[in-house]
Amino acid sequence: MCQTLFRGLADDLDLLHWLRERIFPLEAAHDEASMRASARLGLWELSRSGTTALMDMGTVRHTAALGEEIEASGLRAYFGKALMDINATCPSLCEPTGAALSEAQELRREFHGRAGGRLRFAYTPRFVLSCSDELLRESFALTSAMPDGRWHTHASESPGEMREVLVRCGCGNVEHLGRLGTLSPQSCLAHCIHLDEGEVRRLMDSGTHVLHCPSSNLKLASGIADVPGLLRRGVSVSLGCDGAACNNALDMFTEMRLAALIHKPRHGPTAMPALEVLEMATLGGARALGWDLEIGSLTPGKSADAVFVNLSRAWNPLGPVSPEAYAGALVYSGRPENVDAVMASGEWLVRSGRTLRYEETEVCARAAEALGALRSRARV
Ligand SMILES: [Zn+2]
Repeated sequence: MCQTLFRGLADDLDLLHWLRERIFPLEAAHDEASMRASARLGLWELSRSGTTALMDMGTVRHTAALGEEIEASGLRAYFGKALMDINATCPSLCEPTGAALSEAQELRREFHGRAGGRLRFAYTPRFVLSCSDELLRESFALTSAMPDGRWHTHASESPGEMREVLVRCGCGNVEHLGRLGTLSPQSCLAHCIHLDEGEVRRLMDSGTHVLHCPSSNLKLASGIADVPGLLRRGVSVSLGCDGAACNNALDMFTEMRLAALIHKPRHGPTAMPALEVLEMATLGGARALGWDLEIGSLTPGKSADAVFVNLSRAWNPLGPVSPEAYAGALVYSGRPENVDAVMASGEWLVRSGRTLRYEETEVCARAAEALGALRSRARV
């Protein structure tokens, strides 16, 4: 959510240049007002395009403002404060280990379980290269002490990151996380592209969730995760879009389409069938968040979180679609424009294609204003 303002400001770079030259300085320049404007733009986009639940790692500061914005959006979320105690290239986006952990604990006390349980706090160390072993280990210990805790980081994303992790840790990224004892059914790792056999086994044996982000992985030229292979081995995989600065959209229809398409050349046309991808985007996400008893499928007794899709809209007509082709229609041809209405926790968030909690022109105007001020602070 903190990167929605930065869409288009960091294009055509690989992960480490993208982070160090653009994203870290931009994030460091956030103030509370720009954080709110960025989150509002992102939450508007998510709700308008039919996302009802999210996992967001935030940035180092202004996490309370992020939590309040998510609460006001009506969406359901695990969110956190990006924990970073190593950052040689942008020291202002970095904190002492103890300070990072104690602020995270305060935020957990303030937000975990708020809004009727719709808000939950996650411990979210940024990635191995920004985190000491102590920070990774301690944040995981705090997570595992909570029955509904979640620990979220980004791992094994780009070849450059892998080289630096190897130099610092003497092993692969997931291997390092495993040796620190941070892999478990409460752990959610975005990406997981570059894995060796031992690391795949560690993901399997620990019940760690993998969050597949195909647009981001293609755009940063990070690589293509072996998702069919992970699924075959029983690893839980769900879908994400990562931030708007590396995607550049927060549109799960695009992620479903890419997840279904990009694995077929290597694994054959029957790999990643539409129904399986639709399940990854719904129940798979709910499982990763540990929320699958309440959301993820339309079942009596679950919360009323639902997206209503119009298959016969004139400007993106999907029809005629027979019932057995619904999954294919949504995954291969669906677009945010087909979303007619969205409900989360029984509350309407979108009706007739319009968000009820946001006024689009106002959200965009505030975002433009906040970005102008932020860029003059950041000088990027
Ligand atoms: Zn990422």
